[in-house]
Amino acid sequence: MPVIKDDKTLLIRCTCHGHVLEITYDDYWVKEGVEPDFNVSVWNQTPYPFSFSNRIKLIWDLIRGKNLSGDDVIIEKSDAQAIVNFLEKQLNKSKT
Ligand SMILES: [Zn+2]
Repeated sequence: MPVIKDDKTLLIRCTCHGHVLEITYDDYWVKEGVEPDFNVSVWNQTPYPFSFSNRIKLIWDLIRGKNLSGDDVIIEKSDAQAIVNFLEKQLNKSKT
């Protein structure tokens, strides 16, 4: 079940309830001739997801030039359909 759905934004909660996937249709510059696009963000709702030692390890990985991996977002089938519907609606909007 989407958390929030409005005309241009869809928020989907991960099955772990710790993450939220946000998809925003951005047509702000369309009048200036810029093609609309989609902004995708992953929000971590867990207030302190890493212990102090984990944070030090992440800093050490960054110093050594490693890339940090992101968390997985697990989406239920009905939410996947909501994403498809949202994207189709926005893409059809941009065709007009
Ligand atoms: Zn999650």
